[in-house]
Amino acid sequence: MALIVTESRLPDASAMEAVARLRVAVPTARRVVVAHIDHFFADAESLRPGLAKGKYDAFLLMPRGPRDEEFHTAICELLSDWGSTVATPEVTSVDVVAPADDLLAGRLRDFLDRMGFPHRRHDPDSEVGAELVARYRTEQGAEPTIPLVRSTRLELITPHSVADLAAALYGRPDSIDPEGAHTVVDLCIVGAGPAGLAAAVYGASEGLSTVVVEAEAIGGQAGTSSMIRNYLGFPRGVSGMRLAQRARNQAIRFGTRFFTGWEVRGLTPAQDGGPHLVRTDGGTVHARAVVVSTGVTYRKLGVDPVEDLVGRGVHYGSAMSAARELEGGDVFVVGGGQFRRPGRHPPRPVRAVGDDRRTP
Ligand SMILES: Cc1cc2nc3c(=O)[nH]c(=O)nc-3n(C[C@H](O)[C@H](O)[C@H](O)COP(=O)(O)OP(=O)(O)OC[C@H]3O[C@@H](n4cnc5c(N)ncnc54)[C@H](O)[C@@H]3O)c2cc1C
Repeated sequence: MALIVTESRLPDASAMEAVARLRVAVPTARRVVVAHIDHFFADAESLRPGLAKGKYDAFLLMPRGPRDEEFHTAICELLSDWGSTVATPEVTSVDVVAPADDLLAGRLRDFLDRMGFPHRRHDPDSEVGAELVARYRTEQGAEPTIPLVRSTRLELITPHSVADLAAALYGRPDSIDPEGAHTVVDLCIVGAGPAGLAAAVYGASEGLSTVVVEAEAIGGQAGTSSMIRNYLGFPRGVSGMRLAQRARNQAIRFGTRFFTGWEVRGLTPAQDGGPHLVRTDGGTVHARAVVVSTGVTYRKLGVDPVEDLVGRGVHYGSAMSAARELEGGDVFVVGGGQFRRPGRHPPRPVRAVGDDRRTP
């Protein structure tokens, strides 16, 4: 179930009680409260605090005929966001052939999810899996390593890392400079979280030739958030992945080039009027200006046996794909996001353990 709509006034319960119960029944469905014009403003007063707290997703005026685009836009946005974050895609652009517990396949799928590629995993002995394995044998004359990946752009490949897949999808930084002519771009941005994406949109829209180099997936930390409610211009909230994809598309429209899956390993500042050199294993970008927007890296739990299981059921801020896989299972959360403010009492313990202190 993708969407639940309730009127703001019900005969046997309050709308807030209804959305609370429906949330328990279908936690992933988007929830909308709709009010008739004659009590819209009165109900807004009592129901908007629940909206601010995320108890439901939108408070809308009951459509009354033509000029009801706002209602339909809101419904379409909520359905679209649900479709790309919750639903298992019916139409895929990438298929991953691997067993369920394959560590690399898990990382590839996390990357694909964060990059907005609809995809599915198939066991090697499933119908689709066996067909793709057989096709690889015929085309390559060899046994594929697993995971085997098929995409409409890639055909069949056997990546050995997320970087392999990213390079196949998005190319290498040295493709800017195929003849080694030392092409100099105006702006190179390191890191494609919200800060890097904003820099790309504003740099490119001012006419600068702009290149973004990102070590992992577009969106940074924000890309792992299931719902961001406080970003300017998105009154109903937006998933981090969708926000990142929209920002990326906006930057591309102004001519930005993205290289994803390439970690910047060195930066040599400009000398004698030459360009800055931004170094990756896939080539060096020569740039007149560099923006470093590399964000933060989270402290890991530091328990060796647990670290060995990352990607096999243990996740640090994983994408929505993990939530789908865990449906019906037990989930344990470590880290309660506790903050201490000066002058405040220490927070009461929460059910989760640990904290989210970050290292810059
Ligand atoms: C789960 C979650 C939910 C959140 N929800 C909200 C919210 O609802 N509202 C809100 O305001 N904030 C939220 N935040 C915080 C918000 O996401 C961060 O403040 C924001 O992402 C910081 O943006 P940034 O671009 O500075 O850095 P980051 O998002 O950290 O991005 C940095 C990027 O740089 C890349 N990078 C790092 N080193 C290199 C390198 N050497 N070479 C190439 N690339 C590199 C990283 O891979 C990363 O993609 C949330 C964070 C998380 C984790």
